[in-house]
Amino acid sequence: MTAYKVPQKELLFILDNLVNYQEHCKMPGFENASADMVEAILPEAAKFFEEVVAPTNWLADTQPAHLENGKVITSPALDGVYQQIIDAGWCSLSGAEKYGGAGFPEVVAVAVHEMLQSANMGFSLLPTLTSGVIHALNIYGSEQQKNTYLANLISGVWSGTMNLTEPQAGSDLSAVKTKAVPAGDHYLISGQKIYITWGDHEQSQNVIHLVLARLPDAPAGNQGISLFLVPKYLINDDGSLGQRNDVKAVGVEHKLGIHSSPTCTMAFGDQGGAIGYLIGPENRGLMCMFSMMNSARLAVGHQGVAIGERAYQQAVAYASERVQGKVQGIDSRAPIINHPDIKRMLLQMRALTEAGRAMSLFTIAAQDRAIHHSDPEIQAQNAQLVEIMTPLVKGWCTEVAMESTSLGVQVHGGMGFIEETGAAQHMRDARILPIYEGTNGIQALDFIGRKCLRDGAVGLQGLLSQMQKTVAKASSKSQRTSKLLASLERAIMQCQDALDYILKNSKKSQTIAYTYMMLFGNSVAYWLLLKLAMAADKQIEQGSKERFCWQKIATTGFFASQILTRNQGYLETIKADSACIEDFNGEDFMTN
Ligand SMILES: Cc1cc2nc3c(=O)[nH]c(=O)nc-3n(C[C@H](O)[C@H](O)[C@H](O)COP(=O)(O)OP(=O)(O)OC[C@H]3O[C@@H](n4cnc5c(N)ncnc54)[C@H](O)[C@@H]3O)c2cc1C
Repeated sequence: MTAYKVPQKELLFILDNLVNYQEHCKMPGFENASADMVEAILPEAAKFFEEVVAPTNWLADTQPAHLENGKVITSPALDGVYQQIIDAGWCSLSGAEKYGGAGFPEVVAVAVHEMLQSANMGFSLLPTLTSGVIHALNIYGSEQQKNTYLANLISGVWSGTMNLTEPQAGSDLSAVKTKAVPAGDHYLISGQKIYITWGDHEQSQNVIHLVLARLPDAPAGNQGISLFLVPKYLINDDGSLGQRNDVKAVGVEHKLGIHSSPTCTMAFGDQGGAIGYLIGPENRGLMCMFSMMNSARLAVGHQGVAIGERAYQQAVAYASERVQGKVQGIDSRAPIINHPDIKRMLLQMRALTEAGRAMSLFTIAAQDRAIHHSDPEIQAQNAQLVEIMTPLVKGWCTEVAMESTSLGVQVHGGMGFIEETGAAQHMRDARILPIYEGTNGIQALDFIGRKCLRDGAVGLQGLLSQMQKTVAKASSKSQRTSKLLASLERAIMQCQDALDYILKNSKKSQTIAYTYMMLFGNSVAYWLLLKLAMAADKQIEQGSKERFCWQKIATTGFFASQILTRNQGYLETIKADSACIEDFNGEDFMTN
């Protein structure tokens, strides 16, 4: 087990050079969120998450959340920690000031949230799901609902959940069966939901569930699903907590990872019906829930970054101490960090993590502009960018998180396979990321279907044009970055080639969706990493002697030569004869 250190310099560098935070914070609503303020709070947050939360990670893993006499019990290691997070205001950074939030842009909140995600990923899901509920209420809640729920959700005193999944309705939510029957000013909800993250617990004073359910006369399929707010404790007229609602956890799953987080089976309406309130219009629940899911998908993408960071730090610490074998140029036996193959693995972890972080924060900054920019045209452009980027952030960042955490185990050798080192926990924790919030298979279909084919790839073409501009505008074609720019040009051509191909061969889209998502994810991630490398290069040209700048360029060079080169394989796979997959039917998979 190693300590966790927040990559503060890296976070600030991205805010300065990719997000252009000095301009970003001039948008309306961010008057109290200056760059100086951000520079002041990041070190404070870092100290808190390093010292208070990070040490809980291993302990909470060994004490999984479970059900005891109908009560959800979480690890004693977490006792009091959530309260400290609330007291310090770390959950409410981006909440609207009107409801007691600090009014920072979401990009700052995500930078701070990464610290919690790295410190204890399972625990971080508690505020993550709450943020999703806040997001949905902000858009679709009535004034009365906002006034009743937002302040306590933003402070974190109450937490939120997302109740979509049922045994027969996972990826395909059109099969949702939970019922909602009108009863005066509310609805009575009954049914069962499974796998509900932080579905019940004692960390917060109330749990606000957002639940997908069907009205009695609702049409079948996606068009007949509505969204309801179901509080664990009903709220009295004066805002205080009232009687317990008819909703409870009836099971907590035994899982591969994220043991801090209780993954609950929830029973609604065992006593006649849980009281729920409609959010948004009737039968438009999926649309409303998507606002929450998209925000949660971006958060899951960033979980990939955060767990990759933690695994990387752990691997570096181990490799610096473990002595094994001889290294060319060093007389005595040397720490394994000097072996080229170990350096390769560490660089791979680092390049994937840094590129993922750039991609995630770039997208969150676009989300801020889509909501807060004063110019409606810029809002619309950014909203479209976020739409396109969401499956890439979720899909690519979480696929590479599995790769990074697995490499972290490999760097440890046999010790990586032993639980006590902690490297295995990161790999187990990361394994959920490509599954929840829409599996990566579903993200890939979303990317190629809705985000590419549906509008004839107009939006995606716009993204490629932005990437092309980076090449065209590169004023100082310095020696350090010219080769890196040539790699970007090649990647853009590969994406364009794949895009042209799929527009002509759209029937193949389902078969090649995953590879298509990975090609674009890899290329966009590299583009953003390169933008940071170019900013670092500029600082070197201006006389900076910071080793950080040199490292950024070198890491980008590693990405170009060792990771971006996967693109050629992706492209060939996309264009290859897909009959080798399509000709198989279910029976062909049965053992003879
Ligand atoms: C730890 C954990 C926490 C979770 N938290 C929540 C939560 O808080 N709230 C909530 O509502 N749900 C939650 N879930 C549920 C999660 O979102 C679902 O597990 C996920 O959406 C997949 O659904 P499924 O498990 O039914 O798999 P299935 O839908 O059965 O999918 C199985 C496989 O088939 C593939 N597949 C399915 N349909 C298609 C298709 N059309 N095309 C191609 N491939 C397809 C999938 O990609 C997957 O590989 C959680 C799950 C876990 C394990």
